[in-house]
Amino acid sequence: MRIVEPKVFLVGETRIMKSELNAYLRHIGVPKWKSDATTDAEKLTEVYGRLCYRSFVPGLNPNVKKIRERNKDYLENVIEVKHGSVLEHITLNFIFADVSRVFTHELVRHRVGVAISQESLRFVRLTDLGFWPPLAVRENEKVMEVMSNTFKILEKLQKDLAEELGLDEEDKKFAEKKKLTSAMRRIAPLGSATAIGWSTNIRNLRHVIEMRTDPAAEEEIRLVFGKVAEIVKERYPNLFADYEVEIADGLPWWHTKNKKV
Ligand SMILES: Cc1cc2nc3c(=O)[nH]c(=O)nc-3n(C[C@H](O)[C@H](O)[C@H](O)COP(=O)(O)OP(=O)(O)OC[C@H]3O[C@@H](n4cnc5c(N)ncnc54)[C@H](O)[C@@H]3O)c2cc1C
Repeated sequence: MRIVEPKVFLVGETRIMKSELNAYLRHIGVPKWKSDATTDAEKLTEVYGRLCYRSFVPGLNPNVKKIRERNKDYLENVIEVKHGSVLEHITLNFIFADVSRVFTHELVRHRVGVAISQESLRFVRLTDLGFWPPLAVRENEKVMEVMSNTFKILEKLQKDLAEELGLDEEDKKFAEKKKLTSAMRRIAPLGSATAIGWSTNIRNLRHVIEMRTDPAAEEEIRLVFGKVAEIVKERYPNLFADYEVEIADGLPWWHTKNKKV
């Protein structure tokens, strides 16, 4: 049994194919258009927004005499007027590691605009149970002892069952191992550390950060999405400029006046 801490890895993000974007800008007659965005994510969001009104430069659309020049101002307006679909183009790819099945089961309730790859506990044998001690009980020595001992007992049972069922025998077929591993996981604790890959777009991410760092949400998902918010706020300052943070019940609560854009 090992004590773990949930981890967040931002492993991928949408990037611009420069030559193609330049070809498009030439095509619409603004080859010199530039953005002061510092990331592809923010620049591309701006491009998709400007495409809607042809507002790359004043006069390109004769109806548009004035434009917001800076990426920050431009995205601020997109968010304030709830032109939310523009935020759907950028996908971020996360891996959440050493998170429990309590966390992953809540995460997968967010169905819209996500891709999910969950570590299979039918394939992956539980040889080494990871346990994140919940903040609500970690100061209580007696409770922590009960929880840690339960994990140790359940981990030993997984090993005993694997031996009893001959999982490591040379001639054991993989299909058979899969069935047996799946049977064994039924007595594993819900708090066992596992991993999940989760990709989503900025529009949905803003919504999930708000819902899941809220003080009413469960503490592990609050912890994880607090970390997510910190990463994205730093990396994409203009897409999350309106988010403010305060500590509530010992964890960060990220909120914005622009709810569910
Ligand atoms: C504090 C808290 C406690 C919770 N407790 C429970 C619980 O006890 N039991 C439980 O089952 N769940 C619980 N949930 C999960 C909750 O009910 C939602 O399933 C979850 O938060 C996903 O939210 P969502 O629908 O906004 O997300 P998504 O599924 O990602 O959807 C995003 C948005 O798209 C729209 N949308 C999505 N699907 C539809 C649809 N079919 N029709 C119309 N519009 C749609 C909605 O506007 C929705 O907000 C809890 C969530 C929180 C934050």
